[in-house]
Amino acid sequence: MASYFDEHNCEPTVPEEQYRQNALLELARSLLSGMDIELGDVDFTTWDQRLPPPASKKVVDSLPTITVTPKQADAALKCPVCLLEFEEGETVRKLPCEHLFHSPCILPWLGKTNSCPLCRDELPTDSLEYEEYKQEKVRQQQREHRLECLHGAMYS
Ligand SMILES: [Zn+2]
Ligand SMILES: [Zn+2]
Repeated sequence: MASYFDEHNCEPTVPEEQYRQNALLELARSLLSGMDIELGDVDFTTWDQRLPPPASKKVVDSLPTITVTPKQADAALKCPVCLLEFEEGETVRKLPCEHLFHSPCILPWLGKTNSCPLCRDELPTDSLEYEEYKQEKVRQQQREHRLECLHGAMYS
C-alpha cells in the first residue's frame, strides 16, 4: 500500500510529529463519520503518549464563533476534519491556535481530548490530574534546561 507521503511525493520533515498529527486527524475524522472509535486501540500508554482529557467545557463554550469572510472563502480554506471548503457567510469555530473548524466537526473532538487535531495546540482541561502533569512537565523541562546551561558553563 502506498503511504501518504509516496502519494504526495514529499518527505515528512519530522516523521514522528507527522505521524502523530495524521493519527489525530484520522481519529477526528472517524469521530465525524460516526464511527465509534476505541481510543484504547491507539498506543497512548502514558500521559506523554495518551490522548489528553477533554477540553474544559467552559473554554469550549467560549471559543469564538466567526463568520467566514469572502477573503477566507476565496482562499479555499478547508475544515481540516471534513476537508470541505468553508463557504462565505458560514459560521465556524476558531481555536486559540487560529485554526478554523465547523462546530459539528470540532466539538465532538474537544469532548474527547483537549488539543487541536491539526497542530496539537492544547486547550485547558477540567482534569486536575492532567493539569498537574502538565505543570510537572514544564518544571522538568526547566530543570533540564538549567542542567544543560550548567553543563555548558562547566565545559566551555
Ligand atoms: Zn468540517
Ligand atoms: Zn491548531
